[in-house]
Formats: sequence, C-alpha cells, structure tokens
Amino acid sequence: MGLEQTAASNHLSSMPAANWIRPEAHGIYIPPADCWIDPARPVDLALVTHGHADHARGGHGRTVATPATLDIMSLRYGVEAENIGRATPAPYGETIELKGGVAATWLPAGHVLGSAQILLEHAGERVVVTGDFKRRLDPTCPPFAPTACDVLITEATFGLPVFRHPPIAEEIAKLLAARQANADRCVLIGAYALGKAQRLIAELRLAGYREPIYLHGAMERMCRLYQDHGIDLGDLQPIAGLPKAALMGQIVVCPPSALNDRWSRRLPDPITAMASGWMRVRQRARQRNVELPLVISDHADWDELTRTIEEVNPAETWITHGREEALLRWCELHQRKARALAMVGYEDEDD
Ligand SMILES: [Zn+2]
Ligand SMILES: [Zn+2]
Repeated sequence: MGLEQTAASNHLSSMPAANWIRPEAHGIYIPPADCWIDPARPVDLALVTHGHADHARGGHGRTVATPATLDIMSLRYGVEAENIGRATPAPYGETIELKGGVAATWLPAGHVLGSAQILLEHAGERVVVTGDFKRRLDPTCPPFAPTACDVLITEATFGLPVFRHPPIAEEIAKLLAARQANADRCVLIGAYALGKAQRLIAELRLAGYREPIYLHGAMERMCRLYQDHGIDLGDLQPIAGLPKAALMGQIVVCPPSALNDRWSRRLPDPITAMASGWMRVRQRARQRNVELPLVISDHADWDELTRTIEEVNPAETWITHGREEALLRWCELHQRKARALAMVGYEDEDD
C-alpha cells in the first residue's frame, strides 16, 4: 500500500492523523519527501523555519528557507557559506513542490526577521509546523498568520500559565526611565544578537528615542543585515574607541554573554539590563547579575499559545520544544486531541 493510500484512509479509520510525518528526537522527518524540518544534524534536504542556531544548522545538502533566513544563515556561517549547501529561497506564501506529492509553504511566524511556519500538504491533509512564534506585533517582521490545518505542531517554550509577557511598551518605558534617572551612567542591555536586539532597538525608535544607540562589535553585522532588509533602526554607532565619558547617559546593546565580562569595564558604571522572556524568573536575572530585568520575549506566552490553538482549531495538536506537559493538560481539559513530542536541543537560551 502506498503512503498516499495509507494517509487518505485516516479520516475513515482510527489511524493517527498525518502518519506521513515522523517526529524524531533530532527533527521532524517527512518520509514521502525524504526531508527534515529544522534538523539538529546534517541531512540531504532541510526545510528551515528561521535563523536561530537551534533551528538553522550547517552541513545540509540543500536548505530551503525564506530569503531573509538564507541571508542570516550565510552571514552566520561566514566564509563557510557553502556549509548551508545549495539554497532554495521560499518567499512567504509561495508553495514549493517536494517529491512524494508533498507541498510546502512558508508563512510568517512573527518571531524574528525571516521567521516562518511551514505548512505541509499531502494526501488531502494539512500540517502546520509553527517553528518559534509569537503573536505580539514586532516592527522587524510580519505578524504570525493563523492557518487552518489538521495537525498543528506548536512550540511551547513558555508553555506554563505563569508565563505572561507584559506589553513591550511597559518594558521600554522602564528602560527609558532608568536612563533618564542616571545621567552619569549608561544602560547596558544584553539581548540575543539575532532578533531581540533589533526588535528592542526598533521599539525604542517607535517610543520616540532618537539618540544614537551604541553596539557591541558582535551586534553590528546582524543589525546591518536587518537594515539591508529595510528595517529602520535609526542611528547605530560602534562602541569601539569611544572614551567612557562619551557613553554617559547612553544606551548600549551587547550579547548576553558580554554583560558581565571584561568588555563592560570600558563603560561608565553601567546599569545592567537584559531583554528576555526568562527575566520573569528572578533566579535567572540574579544569575546574570541583572539590575534591570526587561521581560521581552520573541516567543508566544501562555495566553498566546492557547489562543493560537483555539484560533487554528486543528484536529490534533502536537506539542514540542519546551514545556509540554501543562499545554498537553490544557488541551485535555478543553477536549482537544494532543500529544507531546520528545525532541531535543531546541531552546533559545537567551530568548
Ligand atoms: Zn528562535
Ligand atoms: Zn527555538
């Protein structure tokens, strides 16, 4: 019996939905097309949701992703650009035909520049893999597009009811108030170099902040890539070579790993801040010696996760990539068929 016949009989029997998709520990495998979504190890054909390192790895024979994600991967792998293999751009909304009668379409996920959900269609069934996503508006990428499907494979990074992200405007206001109150210090913000940093800067601009924003050297190229993609980040300046006094009263953005290292000694008595969904957890803020925790996340919080399941209203929800148990329980309580996938190695540590 061919795969298509097997899948087509799903609706008439008790066979599981989408039995042409196989969640494995190291990625989601699609046997009829012989390809993987966000594989954690090198494969012949990889469909990639977005540029974060836990999803976009090197060494594949061919990588299909949005044009922005391919640019991000080329930048990150630098001189080893051949590491991403042959690249096939998949602009939002355009369907790519794979072998075995599988069609794949990349749709906005609202997570970072270029981020996508991947809609897979085969044998009359539709499966959406969200990748990482959020529902809040983000000036650096188009918003998440809820898409009808039979099976929704959702991330659950912040899948606990305790995770409710505050409006970003509140966090930006806190940051600007701290700067205002400390004219002889600077505010040093640790932010993930891909996505968080640029969103933070774009939100500061939306809040009316017009001063130059100073960058750690490790942030410069990714910010330039965002600007090349038409994202307005305003006046960005490298910090290299500036005297301490020039940075009093200024905002400096660095990778989280630089917050407490020798590098920060060149700054005038910095107020240490960090922008991350994990700043909700006091212990994580303490571990990083963060004076000003900013709860800013590029992942859906609990309410966004449950609202998305309700809106998309799939026949089945598969939960992966984070805290699965609470969301599984929520699905049960709401008479929704769901299962938790045991996948490894997907957590944006600094998100
Ligand atoms: Zn991510
Ligand atoms: Zn992730």
